[in-house]
Amino acid sequence: MFEVVIGLEVHTQLNTNTKLFCSCPTSFNHKQNTNTCPTCLALPGALPVFNKEVLHKSIMLGTAIDATINKTSYFDRKSYFYPDSPSAYQITQLYTPVVEHGALKINFEDGSHKIIRINRAHIEADAGKNIHDGDISKVDLNRAGTPLLEIVSEPDMRSSEEVVLYLKKLHSIVRYLDISDANMQEGSFRVDVNVSIRPKGDEKLYTRVEIKNINSFKFIQKAIEVEVARQVEAWEDGVYDEEIFQETRLFDQVKQETRSMRGKEEAADYRYFPEPDLLKVVVTDEMMEEFSDIPELPDEKMARFIKDYGMNDYNASVVTSSLEMAHFFESMMEKGITAKNALTWLTVELQARLKGELNISNSPVDAKKLGFLVSRIEDKTISGKAAKEVLDYLMQNDVDVDSVIDTLGLKQVSDTGAIDAMIDEILVANPEKVEQYKGGKDKLFGFFVGQVMKASKGSANPQAVNELLKAKLG
Ligand code: ADP
Ligand code: MG
Ligand code: ZN
Repeated sequence: MFEVVIGLEVHTQLNTNTKLFCSCPTSFNHKQNTNTCPTCLALPGALPVFNKEVLHKSIMLGTAIDATINKTSYFDRKSYFYPDSPSAYQITQLYTPVVEHGALKINFEDGSHKIIRINRAHIEADAGKNIHDGDISKVDLNRAGTPLLEIVSEPDMRSSEEVVLYLKKLHSIVRYLDISDANMQEGSFRVDVNVSIRPKGDEKLYTRVEIKNINSFKFIQKAIEVEVARQVEAWEDGVYDEEIFQETRLFDQVKQETRSMRGKEEAADYRYFPEPDLLKVVVTDEMMEEFSDIPELPDEKMARFIKDYGMNDYNASVVTSSLEMAHFFESMMEKGITAKNALTWLTVELQARLKGELNISNSPVDAKKLGFLVSRIEDKTISGKAAKEVLDYLMQNDVDVDSVIDTLGLKQVSDTGAIDAMIDEILVANPEKVEQYKGGKDKLFGFFVGQVMKASKGSANPQAVNELLKAKLG
């Protein structure tokens, strides 16, 4: 009966070396208030100077989402008072942002897809941080003036599932472009979710509620569910107009509810006006050409993996879901192994062993080592089962693959001479079975294979055993 309508505002912190309008470093994990200067402290008379690297990264994003790049854009001032912003205003781009009218494709598991329109991406300055410490509150301005790119979608999403697909896609694009660390926990990829409901079939937009700063995909999904339930209930109880109004709410993870954060907001409070201290931003043709040169994106990489490695859609989407994973896979492939084995050993065997703090980026076994291990299965030096033991060992010890194979005595015997000798011994020890086999009891073949494997303590290459046995038994 109801339809859910969702639009997202994502603040990505751009990973430039210096801040948006001054030359302070952007790394704010330093001692409090050390990465500051008269400009980002908003001391009287200090003037902002626009960081060109921010324009570069914004245009990269705009190119990736097929957006219009405005050749001329402007900065505006958004006035508000809060202790973490010493200027009492934020410099942003309201009227003419650098990037407009983009789109992002989300892919569903069943193979279908949907286009989510992106209204705009604009540049703005981040605020500092308030730190509440017992009875007192402190302000750390290391983050003040850090560049943000706010990416605003149209209200095109219809479920929390679509929201998560959109966010994962946007996140991977930002990472592929390497324009942001996009770390949700550390706040370099912050999501505001705008949610409303409407009777199915109704075209008009109803009142939206904004839920701010939820720092994981799981909580975003949950926050949407509980907020939609609240709005539906208000509608069904006939109190929609009184209870649902445009406001900012917070998601309480413990109580699993959304809660009012500030009262009704009037947009007029912000007293937006064109920023008088900065020039307009002009993108020259040369800049346009240079800045729109972007690396391969997730969708393109996925298409290439399907084509080059013969992967199915699902496997290709798994390995291209993050740049780290895709690099890992391709680096394994440099060892000349098959895509199928590379995929299994990366996504099944290695992933299962990456627990706790470990992930693909800090894996004790890197792509070259894992690729080489797989090549040792493919050249029949060891069996797949033995390779698992080797991998276990390598997770704990920084040594090379071949030395582990030696240490653990896992080398497969492919040397036909050695296997030959074992077979002869077994055939001599079992003359009546040999007679029966030659008399037509084919099933006994398995018995002989088993005996050879046993004699070699599992190290004989089964294929070699099969071939040699067949030859000997005629
Ligand atoms: P403002 O300028 O007040 O921030 P915007 O029009 O820029 O508002 O919208 C902010 C975000 O809210 C956008 O992502 C937009 O898609 C979304 N949005 C707008 N109206 C609705 C609605 N009725 N329901 C859900 N989301 C909405
Ligand atoms: Mg907004
Ligand atoms: Zn500064």
